[in-house]
Amino acid sequence: MAGARAGKSGYVWVGALVLLAATAACSAAGVRSSDQRRAVAMRAKPFPLASVRLLDSPFRDAMERNGSYLLSLEPDRLLHNFRKFAGLEPKAPSYGGWEARGIAGHTLGHYLSACSLMYASTGDKRYKERVAYIVSELALAQRQRKDGYVGGIPDADRLWSEIGRGEIRASGFDLNGAWVPWYTVHKLYAGLIDAHRLCGDRQAKAVVTRLGDWAARLTRGFTQEQWQKMLVAEHGGMNEVMADLYAMTGRREFLELARAFNHGAVLDPLARREDRLDGQHANTQIPKVIGAARQYELTGETRHRDAAAFFWDRVTQHRSYAIGGNSDYEHFFPVDQFPAHLSPQTAETCNTYNMLKLTRHLFSWEPSASKVDYYERALYNHILASQDPQKGMMTYFVSLKPGHFKVYNTPEDSFWCCTGSGMENHGKYGEAIYFHDVDSLYVNLFIPSELTWREKGLVVRQETRFPEQDTTLLTVTCREPVRTTLKVRYPGWARGVTVTVNGEEQPVEATPGSYVSLTRRWRSGDRVEIRLPMSLRLEPLPHAAGTDGGTYAVLYGPIVLAGELGAEGMPSPYVPDQRQLDTVPTPTVPLLVSSPQEVLRRIAPVEGKPLTFRTQGIGKPADVTLIPFYRMHHQRYVVYWKVLTDEEWRRTAAELAAAEAARKALEARIVDEVRPAEQQSEIDHRFQGQSSRSGDFNNRKWRDAAEGGWFSYELKVRPDALQELRCTYWGGEGGRRTFDILVDGKKLATQTLANNKPGEFFTVVYPIPAELTRGKQKVTVRFQGHERSLAGGVFGLQILTRSDAS
Ligand SMILES: [Zn+2]
Repeated sequence: MAGARAGKSGYVWVGALVLLAATAACSAAGVRSSDQRRAVAMRAKPFPLASVRLLDSPFRDAMERNGSYLLSLEPDRLLHNFRKFAGLEPKAPSYGGWEARGIAGHTLGHYLSACSLMYASTGDKRYKERVAYIVSELALAQRQRKDGYVGGIPDADRLWSEIGRGEIRASGFDLNGAWVPWYTVHKLYAGLIDAHRLCGDRQAKAVVTRLGDWAARLTRGFTQEQWQKMLVAEHGGMNEVMADLYAMTGRREFLELARAFNHGAVLDPLARREDRLDGQHANTQIPKVIGAARQYELTGETRHRDAAAFFWDRVTQHRSYAIGGNSDYEHFFPVDQFPAHLSPQTAETCNTYNMLKLTRHLFSWEPSASKVDYYERALYNHILASQDPQKGMMTYFVSLKPGHFKVYNTPEDSFWCCTGSGMENHGKYGEAIYFHDVDSLYVNLFIPSELTWREKGLVVRQETRFPEQDTTLLTVTCREPVRTTLKVRYPGWARGVTVTVNGEEQPVEATPGSYVSLTRRWRSGDRVEIRLPMSLRLEPLPHAAGTDGGTYAVLYGPIVLAGELGAEGMPSPYVPDQRQLDTVPTPTVPLLVSSPQEVLRRIAPVEGKPLTFRTQGIGKPADVTLIPFYRMHHQRYVVYWKVLTDEEWRRTAAELAAAEAARKALEARIVDEVRPAEQQSEIDHRFQGQSSRSGDFNNRKWRDAAEGGWFSYELKVRPDALQELRCTYWGGEGGRRTFDILVDGKKLATQTLANNKPGEFFTVVYPIPAELTRGKQKVTVRFQGHERSLAGGVFGLQILTRSDAS
C-alpha cells in the first residue's frame, strides 16, 4: 500500500532550507559552526535534568521505586543476546517475555536511557557505573563483529544482509520476517545517545557513531522506493536518532539519513494539515513526528514544524481520553467513535511517553500554558498513574473499560515496549517543571523540587502538596540580587489565581491558560506564594454527551477522579502477557442518575481525606467513592460514567439491567479473542498466512487471503470445556468466497460469503467438537480458501465456552 505512494513522497528531500539567524539556539541544537545558521532559535529551553532535584512527593516515590527495579535487573542478562550474536559467550541467561522473542534487545536500549536519566536526576553513581559497564560490553561486541553493527535481534545477519541487498518485504510489524527490527535498533541508538548526553560517556559516542556508520553503509544506494517501502514497517524514531547523531557529531551524512528515514506516507499529509490517522497504529506514528520536530530544530525546515504542530493538535485536542492517553487496541480510530472505544486496551502507555516528548519540543518553540495543561494532565493521570505502588511495575494499556483494572508487567518475564519506556518515564519527572529563556524562568508544574539555575546564580525551591492542596511556595536563594522574570503558569483549569510576594498580594491581569509574570530584583529569602483554586467539573467523552445524559469523566483541577469498585474476584494483576486479563468479566458498574448540571452538586468531598469524594444519592445501584486515578491501583474502577436523567433511568432501568445481564453472560464465556489486522493482537496470536491481505472497511479492520491462500492464528482454549468459534463477517461480501475453517488441521466448517446480510456485519457461531480442544491450552485456527476462492474477510474471531455447556 505505502510502496505505491512512496515514489511520490516529497517529504524526504526539501531543496531549499529556511535559513534563520539564530545564534542563541546553537547550544540548544548542539550543532557546530557551519550549520548554526540553520538551527531554529528555541524560545524556551529545558534545564539539564541534573539541575532539578525532586523533593518529597508521589513523583519522587515513583522515581525511587523505579530505581529499585532498575537496580534489581542484571545487565549481563540484558546483554545476553548482544554477546551471543557477536560470537561471544553470554555471561548470564536472557530474560523472558519479549526479551526471549523477535524484539529481543529493545530493553537494553531503554535500560541505558533509564539509568542515564536516573543518574542525571539523582547523582547516584551506581547508575552511571551500570551505563559504563553496558557501553563497554557493547563496544566489545561491536569490535568482535567488525561490521559496526551490534544488537540483540535474533537472525539479524540474514535480515540485514537481505536489507543491504535492497530486498525488502515489509508490513506493519514485519520487515523481512523480523519483528520491527529498526524499532529495536532505535532503542539502542537512543540509549547510547542518552549515555553520552547525560553521563558524559565518551565510549557511548564512539559506539553509536560506528552504529550510525553501519546504517549508512547498509542503506547506501537505496532508491526512494526502497526507503519508503522499508518504512512501512514500524521503525521507532530512527529519523530522530539520526538527527541527534548529526547534532552530536556535526556530520551531514547523519542528517541525510534522518531525512531518508522520514516516512512520507505519514508525514506528507500531516505537513499539509490533513488528518489521515484513523486506523493507524498510533505508537508507530508518534516517534516519526518527534523525528520531524527534531529536524525542524536543526534545519529550520518549516514543513517539519507544521507536521509536528498539526499532529500534536489532532492527538491532544481530538484523539485523547481524559487521562491524556490515546488509542484503542493500539490504533487511532474515527473521532466520532469514542463511545465504542472504552476497552481493556485503551491508552497504550508508550504513546503518552512519546506525546510528552513531542510536547516538550513544541513548548520550546512556542511556550504556552495550554501545552503544559495537556502535559500536566497526561503526566498525573497517565504516566504517574501507570506505576504500581506496591512493586514498581508498569502498565502497558491503561484500561478505560468501566469495571476493569490496571494490569502490570512482571519483573522478569514481560519486558513489553511499555516496560522499557516505563523505566524511562519515572526517571525524568524533573524535565518539564521549569523552562527558561535568557530573561525569565517558567514555572510550569507544581511538583516539589529544587532548581539550580547556574547561569543566574539562582536556586528556586518549590514546596507544595499540590494537588492535595491548592497552593505552592517558591523560595529564592541567591548570593547577589538577580533581576529576572518569574513566569508562573496560570492553568486553564484554575478558578482564579492569587499571588503574593513576601506576603504582599500582587495585581494579576492574566487569564487562565497563560502565565503570571513577576519581574523584579530577586533577593535571597524572597518567597512567592501562589494559590490556584480547583473545582469539580465533568468532561464528556468526545461524541458521547447530550443535553440530558451522556458519558463523562469527573475532574478536580487537573486530576481525573475514578470510582472505586473494589477488588472482589480480581486475579493477580502481574502478567507476562499484557492481554491475558482482557476477558476477565467486569461487575455491574454504577451509573449516575441526575442531570449533568446537577451531578457536580451531588459529589461531595470526604472529610479528612484529601482528593476523596463521594456521590450523594445519585449512584445506581449504590453510591461510590472517587479518588485520583493516579492513586487507583489493585482494584476495579470507573473513569467514564454514564449519566442518566431520572426520566431516562425510569424508562430504561429494566432494559439496561437485561442488556447488562446479557453482556456479562457473554463476556464470562470468552476464552480468547483475535482482532484481525491489528498489529499487536496478530503478533500475540502468532499470525501466519500465504497471500493474505488486510485493510479497513466501515471503520473495522479485516483480514482475508487471496485466491487459494490462507491465514491462521493461535487461540487459547480451555482443556476441559465445550467451546465454540465465533467469526464476524461483512454481510455484503461479493466475489468468490468459499473457504474452510480448520482447527489444528481438522475441518470445522465450510463458509461461503455471498451477500449474506446486506449492509451490516454478522456473526456466525461454529460449535467446536470436544475432541478438538480436549486437554489443550491452545489451537491453531486456519482459514483456507478453496481453489480460485478468497478466504474471509474476517473482522473478528473469538473462542467462547458454549452457553449450553455449563
Ligand atoms: Zn508500549
